[in-house]
Amino acid sequence: MDEPITIDGSMGEGGGQVLRTSLVLSMSTGKPFRIVNIRARRKHGGLLRQHLTALNAAAEVSRARVDGAVPGSVEVTFEPRNVLPGSYRFSVGTAGSATLVLQTVLPALATASAKSRLVLEGGTHNPWAPPFDFLERTFIPFLKRMGPDVSCQLERPGFYPAGGGRFIVEVSPVAMLSRVSLLDRGAIRRSGCRAVVAHLDMNIGHREVGAVCRGLAWSPNCGEVTACPESTGPGNVLIVAIESEHITEIFTGFGVRGVPAERVAAGTVEEVRRYLAAGVPVGMHLADQILPLLALAGGGSFRTVAPSPHTITNIDVIERFLDVRIECKRVADDIWEITVERAHGFDSGAQG
Ligand code: AMP
Repeated sequence: MDEPITIDGSMGEGGGQVLRTSLVLSMSTGKPFRIVNIRARRKHGGLLRQHLTALNAAAEVSRARVDGAVPGSVEVTFEPRNVLPGSYRFSVGTAGSATLVLQTVLPALATASAKSRLVLEGGTHNPWAPPFDFLERTFIPFLKRMGPDVSCQLERPGFYPAGGGRFIVEVSPVAMLSRVSLLDRGAIRRSGCRAVVAHLDMNIGHREVGAVCRGLAWSPNCGEVTACPESTGPGNVLIVAIESEHITEIFTGFGVRGVPAERVAAGTVEEVRRYLAAGVPVGMHLADQILPLLALAGGGSFRTVAPSPHTITNIDVIERFLDVRIECKRVADDIWEITVERAHGFDSGAQG
């Protein structure tokens, strides 16, 4: 077994992503790692339920030997063996994000030797995590461009604090992910917004949708409000979709008790305006999430807004595992081009 790569979990952004990206790259390359100072820059550091579920899921899928997989742990060693496709069920057990658990195991299963079917349970619409709609309409379509066929279906949403969400993902893998270049988003074909309101006053959703349509100077027909009786607990999410020729981007706002619906909408409108003004295909969140995929593919490029701390941190983690060079070049104001290039040969996509 190789010497484990040592990752400092306090690097850069210092959150759960440092651990998850390390798991993604370790599973797909077979390289073991040891991570210290896990989530050191978060208020409640160490492994929370969601991170522990992602770690255990990665261990189960790659038959890994793991040390330190206990709640609150700040140090973990992970030695993957071989990735085994199949049927899995991963349950966070709290409202912690199940979409982040999926993103941890998906790249390895997308290049495994056979199909997989996953059941994920927990939060599906969490602040500071990719909401299910983003997964379905933005992240998974990007991954599909790289070769694998992936489908996902929401059975019921899970909002903080009740959780209880559930979705199913089916993966038909390819031997290796292919490179993707996405520099242009093409013409915008459709824009719209939807507020989902579960066990709360529907007026919250109407106010959010109204504020988005006014803020973006859209006709009121661009918005809809839906109830969500199947949700276990109360919750509210506002989703704005910009469908362009080459990509659909999703922007999300989360209703928070005590925060006026108009303020929730204003934050989302600001993010959408920034994306529209930049004219780039890839939004801020997708940018950090696709970097490990492009690195495993051995290259690729895309245009996005100025790199976020998550993106910069992910680049550092990726360069610890793979012999790739990732360059962020400013093209104009808020337009950046990120290029991933293989520095020398490496064994990406290797599954045993
Ligand atoms: P961390 O904070 O380290 O746990 O990482 C959070 C991850 O969730 C990053 O990959 C973010 O890009 C992603 N994320 C956070 N908010 C959103 C959002 N509204 N839409 C899509 N992805 C998100």
